[in-house]
Amino acid sequence: MSYAFDPSPLVSLPITNQAHRFPVHRVYCVGRNYAEHAKEMGFTGREPPFFFLKPADALVVVPTDQTGTMPYPPLTQDLHHEVELVVAIGQGGRDIPVDQALSHVYGYAVGLDMTRRDLQAEMKKQGRPWCIGKAFDHSAPIGPIVQASQLAGITQAEIKLEVNGITRQHSQINKLIWNIPETIAHLSRAWTLMPGDLIFTGTPEGVGAVVPGDEMTAHITGLPSLRIAIAA
Ligand code: MN
Repeated sequence: MSYAFDPSPLVSLPITNQAHRFPVHRVYCVGRNYAEHAKEMGFTGREPPFFFLKPADALVVVPTDQTGTMPYPPLTQDLHHEVELVVAIGQGGRDIPVDQALSHVYGYAVGLDMTRRDLQAEMKKQGRPWCIGKAFDHSAPIGPIVQASQLAGITQAEIKLEVNGITRQHSQINKLIWNIPETIAHLSRAWTLMPGDLIFTGTPEGVGAVVPGDEMTAHITGLPSLRIAIAA
C-alpha cells in the first residue's frame, strides 16, 4: 500500500501501569448530563441524552505529572472549560443492553470538553451544528487511562476543576443524569461502538471562561489529575 502523502499518526493515550497505549478510534461527547449544568444552560428536566463528536486529533494528551498546554483557539472571545469523566471503550458493540454495558469499558480518564461558548451559542440560535463551538483543534485535553479493573467505585467519585488554584466546578459522578451504562446503551443504538472509542460523559455546573496564561487542574477521585495551561 502506498499513499499520496504520509497518513496522519494514530492518536493514542498512555495507560497507567501499562507499557502499551490505548489507540483512539472516535471521541463521542454527551450534552447536558448533569441537572445543575443543564439549568445553568437554560434547560430543565430529564431529556433523552444527545451526542456530538470531536475528531480524535483534537485530543491534547497530557501524561501524568506533566503540565500540558493548549493554544487559545481562534474566532472566540469566550473559551469555556467543561471537566468530564471520560469512558474508554475496550470492546465494541451495538444495541448494548444496560446490564452488560460495563463489560465494554476498558477504563476511565479525566478530560476537558473545551468549548467556544460564543460560537456554540450563535450556532444554537441559528439551529446550525455545534461543530465550530466544540470540535476545534486542541479542544479535548485528556489524561492517562486507568483500567476499570484497577479502579473501584468510579460512580462515587468526586469531579472537580480548578483554575489557577480556585475551584470552579465540583460535583459527584453519581449526579450524572444518564449514568455510564445508560449512556453506553443509548450511544450504541445510534452508532456501532468500537474498541478505542472515548465517551466524554458531560460536565457538572460551574462552567466558565479561561484566558491565556490560566492553568486548569482537573480531578476525579482515583484517576491521575489533568493539568493544562492555556498558552499565553
Ligand atoms: Mn461537555
